[in-house]
Amino acid sequence: MSDRPLIGILGGGQLARMMVLAGLPLGLRFRIADPDAGACAGEIASLATLAYSEHEALARFFEGADALTFDFENVPAQTASFLAQCFVVRPSANALAVAQDRLEEKRLFRRLGFATAEFAPVDGADDLPRAISAVGLPALLKTRRLGYDGKGQVRIEEPARAEEAWRAIGSVPALLEAVVPFSAELSLIAVRGVDGSVLCYPPVMNWHHRGILAASLAPAPIAAALAERAQSMARSILSELDYVGVLALELFVRDGELLANEIAPRVHNTGHWTIEGAETSQFENHLRAVLGWPLGAVRPRGHALMINFVGRLPERRAALAVAGLHWHEYGKTPRAGRKLGHATLLAEDPGALARALEQASALFGDRSIAGEVARVLAASAGVR
Ligand code: AMP
Repeated sequence: MSDRPLIGILGGGQLARMMVLAGLPLGLRFRIADPDAGACAGEIASLATLAYSEHEALARFFEGADALTFDFENVPAQTASFLAQCFVVRPSANALAVAQDRLEEKRLFRRLGFATAEFAPVDGADDLPRAISAVGLPALLKTRRLGYDGKGQVRIEEPARAEEAWRAIGSVPALLEAVVPFSAELSLIAVRGVDGSVLCYPPVMNWHHRGILAASLAPAPIAAALAERAQSMARSILSELDYVGVLALELFVRDGELLANEIAPRVHNTGHWTIEGAETSQFENHLRAVLGWPLGAVRPRGHALMINFVGRLPERRAALAVAGLHWHEYGKTPRAGRKLGHATLLAEDPGALARALEQASALFGDRSIAGEVARVLAASAGVR
């Protein structure tokens, strides 16, 4: 390994961009491949416009890299396997393959003894009646592959509309999943080093709007036992997959019980708070893990609220007047449903965070979520 290790990243979106921003102070160099010539990480690192199927060209572009990793979880697992013949690829093609297929993911959860939403595979329209009677309605029909941010899923309320839903997701292999009446959505970032050491950030509480993450509150104001259970679930997954790097685990809370929803084999939007809110960010820890370096402490530095900017950027100047606010723009052209940036509010305690939130409510695309976060903060400040 050279004095200034070279990292190759497949996918050049905001996650790659934030990895670069975390890696430069560590002395790292980066090369990024993305099919889109305008990928936003290209603004700050060398970017090649390559399809993920161009195996040989990718190998030439990454020549000399000390390790390859991903900003995009849907890079074909075959591409990862091919590159693993000549490069260190972390996480592994196998971990990628499991996370890319909702059915494999659910089977992994069940194998590890985790509760999940009721589900049934749907390989063709003929499977729908059996799946509906197994799972019940309302339910979500989700494509097994290539779904993210609420894409590739349709809600079914009545059996008569099931075939229409099947066509709407593109008549591809799918999973019918019961709608979970959850009391909260949680997620957890964990990182595993080459030596098998694992560190878990505290679970965070999340709010979504139209299937896209709107806000994350860190740490989640939940009982210590629930947080420990979430962390032990993440540890089991990391060890089962012999995983190296950062992994995100998304969970639902139903009647005080944790249900595993999905994993992301990469740094994750619900971990952006760690840039300012934890001793070592998820981006730095992912790079440390991928390079086989010691992991950094994951202790929170206070209470953080991450607010996503989706489809439009709020007024920057006004936002910067809010004490404790940290602004992140990704350099992307605004488009409906597109993640353009985020802000993290950092405060010493939930009460101070609630006061900062009052000044920052204009940052929310959907103000009702600001209200929900404020209610949770008020309740957690009250019990301290
Ligand atoms: P996913 O792509 O599975 O993470 O889904 C995106 C979002 O849709 C989740 O974070 C939830 O807000 C919602 N969602 C997904 N699956 C379910 C479910 N089975 N029950 C209720 N809400 C769900």
